Amino acid sequence: MKRNFPLLAAVATCALVLLGVSHAGAGALDVEITAAMDHLKAVKADADLLVLTDAPFVRPGARSALPELAVVEKLTGCTVGSGNLLFFQRPQHHPLRFLLFARKTGEAVIISAAAGQYAAEKLNMSATTIADKAFWDQSQQFAAGKDMFTLAGIANAWAAKAPYDFLKCAELHNHICPGLTSGYLLAHYLLERHPLAEGERYTVVSCPV
Ligand SMILES: [Zn+2]
Repeated sequence: MKRNFPLLAAVATCALVLLGVSHAGAGALDVEITAAMDHLKAVKADADLLVLTDAPFVRPGARSALPELAVVEKLTGCTVGSGNLLFFQRPQHHPLRFLLFARKTGEAVIISAAAGQYAAEKLNMSATTIADKAFWDQSQQFAAGKDMFTLAGIANAWAAKAPYDFLKCAELHNHICPGLTSGYLLAHYLLERHPLAEGERYTVVSCPV
């Protein structure tokens, strides 16, 4: 069965394209993204707007979600090159999800796909708000509740203008935590204080606390 998986996935993808299912989904996504930008008072290519998504990793209907990502890129103007399009990793079967986050207010809209439909959840995700335990109790009721730790942490690191290489570490690690932060600081300490000479290399020996 495993051997047939790529072929089956390819056939399924073709069928979806022929039926126009992916276009129907993208259409609904258009509406949700536009409404979210209105809610956040964001304009296209707004430097204070972040898109954070698992689109490169999940496979809704056993196909790539890159067409949906292209729609979001086009409408928001958020790009990797501008530093305001970030990713988080999830398994292929995980829901496709887009967080739109406004730096100045902490207002956020999370758009999630379920059964070909998109649903938006609005919330405040500012540093002050997420420092309150009540936020974590209440946000677990959201469809995106299980992703909230990842979304709120990375979005606020971006809002605080964390260095881009730190945000890349967060994308790899999937959340902000003391382990990530201390590792980043240690790595930069080494790079600054113990730069490699010709023929040298770093060897990392680490263990859990
Ligand atoms: Zn961690």
